[in-house]
Amino acid sequence: MSLLPFDPRPIITIVMGVVLLVWVIVCAVLFARAARRSMVATGRMGRVRCERCGTEYEVGIGDLTRMGFSKSASITKTRREGAALVDEPNYTRYAKRLLCPHCGKRAWAQVLNIAELQDTMRAGFVKAGITYLLLMVAGGALVLAVTGIAMDIAQAWVVTQLQGLQ
Ligand SMILES: [Zn+2]
Repeated sequence: MSLLPFDPRPIITIVMGVVLLVWVIVCAVLFARAARRSMVATGRMGRVRCERCGTEYEVGIGDLTRMGFSKSASITKTRREGAALVDEPNYTRYAKRLLCPHCGKRAWAQVLNIAELQDTMRAGFVKAGITYLLLMVAGGALVLAVTGIAMDIAQAWVVTQLQGLQ
């Protein structure tokens, strides 16, 4: 009965897989935070209308992008332009549960300038996206390089153990 040496390679694969996954999640979280920061930095305000009392008021973009109840619907408006029918798929209805300064209730508030805000968000996402995409790729390459080295060392170790058994 031969006693096979302990092979650390499956463990290396699992550990490095987890490290890679964690790294991707960390990058995604940092990306979301950076995107939000750059959006807030633009100083853009959201115009919203309280669906309860109808008052229109302004909220900071930071409040709009904060986690919380929100609902959005993509509405495709079709309009006639000459003889052709043109779809406008970009129109989005977006509402968020906000504390209305007029009626003092937490109510759904429809964001009126959503198209304008989406442009601001897109710019913020692109700016933050490039940075963190590069960081994600660089970190991923590093993890893979370390995995390769660790696998080589593990393989050499297993071979040495096997030779020792002979
Ligand atoms: Zn209200």
